[in-house]
Amino acid sequence: MSQFTEFVQPYMGRLFTALGLDAEYERAEGNTVHHRDDRGELVPVLDLMGGYGSLILGHNHPELVAHAKAVLDSNRAVHAQFSLRGEAGRLGAALSDIVRRETSVKEPYIATFGNSGAEAVEAAVKHAELVRVRKAAALADEVAAHAEAASEAARRDGAEADEDAFRLPALRTRVTPADGVEGLLAAVAAHNAAALATRPLFLALERSFHGKLVGSVQLTYNAGFRTPFQNLGTRVRFVPMDRLDLLDEIAREERVVLLDTEVVDGRVRVTERDLPVVTAFLVEPVQGEGGIHVLTTEQGRAIRLFCNKAGTALIVDEVQSGMGRCGAFLASSLIGLRGDYYTLSKSLGGGLAKISAMLVRRSLYQGEFDLIHSSTFAMDDFSSSVALKVVEMLEADDGLAYRQVTERGERLAAMLNELKDTYPDVIEDVRGKGLFVGVQLYDQGRARSMVLRGTAYTGALGYLLSGYLLRQERIRIAPTGSAGNVLRIQPSLHLTDEEIERLRGALDRLCRILRHEDTLHLVHP
Ligand code: PMP
Repeated sequence: MSQFTEFVQPYMGRLFTALGLDAEYERAEGNTVHHRDDRGELVPVLDLMGGYGSLILGHNHPELVAHAKAVLDSNRAVHAQFSLRGEAGRLGAALSDIVRRETSVKEPYIATFGNSGAEAVEAAVKHAELVRVRKAAALADEVAAHAEAASEAARRDGAEADEDAFRLPALRTRVTPADGVEGLLAAVAAHNAAALATRPLFLALERSFHGKLVGSVQLTYNAGFRTPFQNLGTRVRFVPMDRLDLLDEIAREERVVLLDTEVVDGRVRVTERDLPVVTAFLVEPVQGEGGIHVLTTEQGRAIRLFCNKAGTALIVDEVQSGMGRCGAFLASSLIGLRGDYYTLSKSLGGGLAKISAMLVRRSLYQGEFDLIHSSTFAMDDFSSSVALKVVEMLEADDGLAYRQVTERGERLAAMLNELKDTYPDVIEDVRGKGLFVGVQLYDQGRARSMVLRGTAYTGALGYLLSGYLLRQERIRIAPTGSAGNVLRIQPSLHLTDEEIERLRGALDRLCRILRHEDTLHLVHP
């Protein structure tokens, strides 16, 4: 047994071994990784997994490697915490400029850097909650001041309680006119105290993936990842992407009011004020782990409209779809969706550094957030410098990289759609944007082959096929995290025509095996 399986990932290590995915990769460049065969020879493998989307520039891009070496050779101060971090500053400014250009938003964005995608999501969640609690606190203060004034009016001027106040649903069971103004105000205060203790709500889309940390895992739809930890964290409601009409109903169901008082013509009246309870709506412009589902312009508009109406922050999670992956710096800009927050990671580090960024509009930024949210390794000068270089490479020649992604993506999608036309009984759908593509295979629940039929119950079809493609075709591909029958294809923008044709040949043979249920080919070494 390998040390990896023995000491690091006992479960996954065994799974990789069972599926024939137990390779150790030594070298990598572009879209190719190398492992050693039994004779010790390096075997090249076409890598279409692309580091779960972190390799838009490919493995070990020479320009980036040279830059990283130069940073190290210059003895750059990498961990100079508690100082003005120059590289982080330059990176923050560059990210702000690009987001403003793509979204036409006038104000700048403030960046909070982190070490992983989930961390960026959690930073956005915390920031949005800080905004919400402060709004709620301001409302509570206002309401308390009004109650004080009403009490004073009753004591000093003999103001009386308005009869209608006692009919309000929130107060009906607590007080009667016999209790007078003081009784009414006590009931109002009790209601408000209970309302203010309401746990905040987050909205996310079904099939979403926003990370696996304590907070973010509750925003990830996959029940296997989420439910064991549901008592630890965030309250979330999931909405189907194609049922955004449900949002108004959710808003009605979740509505919480504070009771406010006013004195009009010597009478104390009670009114309802909406308490902000929905902290944020999290959206991936292209869902990745959930099976590559592209948000449409109309869906984006419906979400933005809801957030505007409800005063809810919109967090656009571009951890996987951003950094050029879909043919623009932000995939959301391609559907005209504007977020209050953006999260970026994966390709931001160019495959060499671990870094993430949470961007928030400056007018929303809460002054001391950078004091109450920080991390030892965030903003280190090495990662920031590499990320800045990545950004410069993507932006060079007037965004040549984005155009390249679009062109390569179209070529790849055309090939996959031709295969779908040839094998309509095997390939159910080809979806995606740019170089973020999913091939959905039909469920094998009705196959005569027991091996194939079994995968319908274990959700392991994609894993079985990944093992086959690696062993037989020397192609590295994986299913999406939560949809086992969707093969994700996320190569770098340097994807060549030859590589596309290699994939065509491999998938053509695979489709033929599936069509004829020639299962021995799949499981034989
Ligand atoms: N958000 C999205 C959209 C993602 O795809 C991912 C990772 N697949 C994450 C967040 C979490 O990123 P990380 O794995 O770096 O924590």
